[in-house]
Amino acid sequence: MKKTGFIYDDVFLTHEMPPYHPESTMRLEAITEKLKKSDIWNSLIQIPPIKANISDIEAVHGKAYIARTQKTKEAYLDPDTFMSKDTYNAALYAAGAVITAIDNCKSGTIERAFCAVRPPGHHAEKDRGMGFCIFNNAAVGARYAQSIGYRKVFIVDFDVHHGNGTQHIFYDDDSVYYFSSHQFPHYPGTGEGSEKGSGLGRGFTFNVPLSQGSGDKEMQNTYGTILPPLVKDYAPDIMIVSAGYDIHQKDPLAGLNVSDKGVASIVKNIINASGDIPIVFTLEGGYSLTALADSVEITIRELLA
Ligand SMILES: [Zn+2]
Repeated sequence: MKKTGFIYDDVFLTHEMPPYHPESTMRLEAITEKLKKSDIWNSLIQIPPIKANISDIEAVHGKAYIARTQKTKEAYLDPDTFMSKDTYNAALYAAGAVITAIDNCKSGTIERAFCAVRPPGHHAEKDRGMGFCIFNNAAVGARYAQSIGYRKVFIVDFDVHHGNGTQHIFYDDDSVYYFSSHQFPHYPGTGEGSEKGSGLGRGFTFNVPLSQGSGDKEMQNTYGTILPPLVKDYAPDIMIVSAGYDIHQKDPLAGLNVSDKGVASIVKNIINASGDIPIVFTLEGGYSLTALADSVEITIRELLA
């Protein structure tokens, strides 16, 4: 059994959204409630997240943007992205969770991790929050990993939405590979197959746009056939996975058709592709509470295996 960390804290419930917003505290409550009832709960290594330092956030985001997020309370950062009075603090812990996971992989306490966090991160651009995201948790994690000696980072993003923020942050950079599958065309509009990086980063961004209705078969092709040789060629030192369960057929916000079995094989394929390097999953989307909780349990079962 692989030593698997579960990084979570109730601080993520202090990021409160207006009524009926899909990115609600109920998402994490559904996940923890389900896991606590399951037989895998006691196999997980429970690790509370540390709070990210501002310098960790500044490795990815601009100072003026960070200052703006600190000041924004009970107001919208963009038409979808609300900040409650405690959101800034929760967002520092969400990025800090990925840092915590990476630190614990480095020290050998764990080999793999699942960070159950809110707010999510992959839409957050260097100087702009959007799509429910404040700080780009995966990107902050990637830069932190490099600061402690992991040279090459491979980010896999299977959320139904394209991770525009993560792609743009590393677009010119050959030290962080960004691989994404997503429904296309769909929010946020980026993620065409022709977007492959630029300058030094050319060839280190890979997009797999999937048409509405795509499901387990297309995901098997993406993660069982397309991904493995890319990871092998790149030979990363650590993998960070932006895990968005809005790919699920029950999800109300999008139109892919991935089943529970499909989720399991995506995760299995990512693990197989990684070889034996550390893998840190961080929660992005997923808005059907039952599908989300089921999918996270399925994911963790594969991580432990
Ligand atoms: Zn999403």
